[in-house]
This record gives sequence, structure tokens and C-alpha cells, in this order.
Amino acid sequence: MQCPICGSSKVRKMDEVYHYAECGLDYVYLKGIPHLYCQKCEDEVVEIPREDELLAKLGEFLVTHPVRLGPQEIRYLRKLVGWSQEELGRKLDIGRVTINRWENEAQAGPGIPADILIRIVWTNECIRQSCSPELRVQLNGLLEKLDQVTSLIKQHIRRVTYDAESGEFQLEAA
Ligand SMILES: [Zn+2]
Repeated sequence: MQCPICGSSKVRKMDEVYHYAECGLDYVYLKGIPHLYCQKCEDEVVEIPREDELLAKLGEFLVTHPVRLGPQEIRYLRKLVGWSQEELGRKLDIGRVTINRWENEAQAGPGIPADILIRIVWTNECIRQSCSPELRVQLNGLLEKLDQVTSLIKQHIRRVTYDAESGEFQLEAA
């Protein structure tokens, strides 16, 4: 067993859940993906199989669940489709300054109409870039029951755990 970063064999296998903070969302945990502790790197190291797919799936998970899009989520979704703050602003017909505020001030997030609009323009872009064809169906499912879920959109995400065995995300809202 070797460290995939530095090649050292002074590694210890960790099998607990891995805190996947480098994805850009501070509440995402991975279960069932082997990771190591390297004594030389003095850090946990992990090799995530098909990481791009996982990140795309995480984006789809966010837009199809009725929890609030806050600073982290907006930045995550925007970067995932490769938009600048200016480009996202253009799609929503608002200025870059507002996007910047949404991404940096938890209290200044979008209201529910803008939250929903972000989901729609993002889904369109994702389909245009040919990510997931089922995504629009899933988003429509969310929007159809909007009268029931609007109150949930006010909730924040406490934790998301990805289980590599089932390939599913699990959500805990606060
Ligand atoms: Zn190492």
C-alpha cells in the first residue's frame, strides 16, 4: 500500500467516512471509498473513482432537493457548469454584484423565486452540456410539488453522505 501523492509506504488504512471538504461544500461525506492516512504527507489521502461524475451527481442532487441554495451551493453549481459570476448574472438578468453577495453572505441569499430560477437555468445548461437527461424530469418533479416544498427550501443542509456501495446520496437537513 502506497500513498498516491508522495509514494511513501508509511500509510495507514482509514475506513471511516471521509470528509470530502475539497469538493467545495463543507458538509459532504463519502462512505465506502477507501482512504489512507500518510505519515509523510501528514494528511488523509483519497483517490476518488470517476470524481467528475460524482461532482456532477452531487450538483444534480442539490438542485433536485428542496433545500435552500446558499453561498456554498450557488458557487458549487456555478463552477460545475463553468460559469463566471457575470455569466450566471446574465442568465438571471441580475448583476454580478448580487451573485457575489449571494456567494459570500449567508444572510443575503436569493429569495425563493430566484432560488428556483437558478435551478432551472442550471438544469438547462447541464442538459446542454449533456450531463444527465433524467435531470429535467427530476427537477420538474420537484417543481410540481412546489406548494408543498416551498417551506422546505428555507431549510439548510446539515450533512450529505455519499454511499459508494449504493451510489446514493443521503441528506440531513437542519
Ligand atoms: Zn504521502
